[in-house]
Amino acid sequence: MNTRTKSDGLAGLENLSRKYGAVPVTVAFGDGIGPEIMKASLKVLIQAGANIAIEPIDIGESLYLAGNTSGIGPEAWDSLRRTKVFYKAPITTPQGGGYKSLNVTVRKTLGLFANVRPCVAYHPFIATKQPGMDVVIIRENEEDLYAGIEHRQTDQVYQCLKLISRPGCEKIVRYAFEYARARGRRKVTCFTKDNIMKLTDGLFHRIFDEIAADYPEIENEHWIVDIGAAKLADTPLAFDVIVMPNLYGDVLSDVAAQIAGSVGLAPSANIGEQCAMFEAIHGSAPRRAGQDAANPSGLLLAGGMMLAHIGQPEIAKRVHNAWLKVIEDGIHTYDVFKDGISKQKVGTAAFAEAVIERLGQMPETLRAVAYEGASKPFAVPQAKLRTPARKELVGIDVFVHATKPVEELARDMQATADEIFALTMITNRGVKVWPEGLPETFCTDHWRCRYLARPGKQFNKVMIVDLLKKLTYMGVDFIKTEHLYTFDGEAGYSLGQGQ
Ligand code: NAD
Repeated sequence: MNTRTKSDGLAGLENLSRKYGAVPVTVAFGDGIGPEIMKASLKVLIQAGANIAIEPIDIGESLYLAGNTSGIGPEAWDSLRRTKVFYKAPITTPQGGGYKSLNVTVRKTLGLFANVRPCVAYHPFIATKQPGMDVVIIRENEEDLYAGIEHRQTDQVYQCLKLISRPGCEKIVRYAFEYARARGRRKVTCFTKDNIMKLTDGLFHRIFDEIAADYPEIENEHWIVDIGAAKLADTPLAFDVIVMPNLYGDVLSDVAAQIAGSVGLAPSANIGEQCAMFEAIHGSAPRRAGQDAANPSGLLLAGGMMLAHIGQPEIAKRVHNAWLKVIEDGIHTYDVFKDGISKQKVGTAAFAEAVIERLGQMPETLRAVAYEGASKPFAVPQAKLRTPARKELVGIDVFVHATKPVEELARDMQATADEIFALTMITNRGVKVWPEGLPETFCTDHWRCRYLARPGKQFNKVMIVDLLKKLTYMGVDFIKTEHLYTFDGEAGYSLGQGQ
């Protein structure tokens, strides 16, 4: 399917949207239900008065299947770099290996570091487990395990690298506080697992505490993510804005959207220093494609976030309040339709028409949105580089593929130590197994052998090269190394569990 086919139904709308001063917006009609919900959403936005100039691009399934494993081509990148605003319908990632996630590619390539997901309940008009819920999840969007750096290192063990950077944490945490301040929110909560990942999640938490001090009028708190998630599912009213690293945010924003009512209603904004992308959080629901049945609400509300972003908050407000009125009037698509609550079951196009008919009206029971603060957009935090810390090499972790008993491995590895450095520890999957390991500990074929400089001695990279040479001659199958540094005297590496 090509772009022309997908955007066919837009012929009239494109003309309507080409007014003087129209803001260029790159639009992808997506796959599955994408073209239907995108056309419906654009129709509402434009009827409400959105002044946008639509630049359609083709991405997703058709490109994947034509052999483009990234799902996006050079013309689409040109458009995105030109408009810097992307309104995107969901796309289908074909089954099977080899296809990279287009979402992750776009987010990371355009530096869209903040993923903003409001999760709101529409009680009593849409069934919800949590009436009154109104939580905004701000998920870090570029780092963490989503760096996608994975390796198989031994017969038994695979690895995924979790990368967390100081500029990355500073940007997302400051964004969360700026968002809270601009939108009149009272509290920002941070979720991490820093009781286990003391360096990576520890950095996120530390920076949260540092930055929170710059916003004394906003309450702040930190929860360990597991109990925080349980509390969020059980008592979401305890939270307001929650900021978290990528993986937790990915999982918990879907959970929060579903608890609020339905993932089909939830929009998201992906914000960067220069570009921004707006989309629904759900996928392309291929089984519903072409039936005029899908709910366009998530994408439509994302369109509202886009209008606020490009300086048209009044239009966003018009769309959002008309949408709330439709929800109140019980005009619902099949996914949220409930006998006894809903009044009329409609398809995608009729739902959009119902919103258009109510443009200018306000909800009576649900809280009308004001887009407060959206008209005074806040500065997106820029990455700041600091004076680098004094870095000193103090040792090395050598990872080894071996199936021998740990005592034998320790003897081999100790044979390479000298008067400068010593073998201090061997761990297996992070647990110390030498010296003084327990026979109960299950061991795989993947060992970490830690060498540290002896007191008063200096370690250097030539020693590392010599050490690896010795290991090679001895037939030790080392599979990777990690240098151990101190930064301004503070250890830049974790201890082994049990050490
Ligand atoms: P999905 O969100 O597409 O669908 C899950 C179910 O939710 C569907 O069966 C459908 O019944 C329902 N649903 C979703 N959106 C709806 C809507 N707007 N109206 C009514 N019902 C709706 O998830 P999936 O089935 O796991 O994924 C399908 C495809 O979408 C996959 O190829 C996946 O890779 C892709 N996907 C894309 C995005 C994106 O582009 N942002 C996000 C998630 C999944």
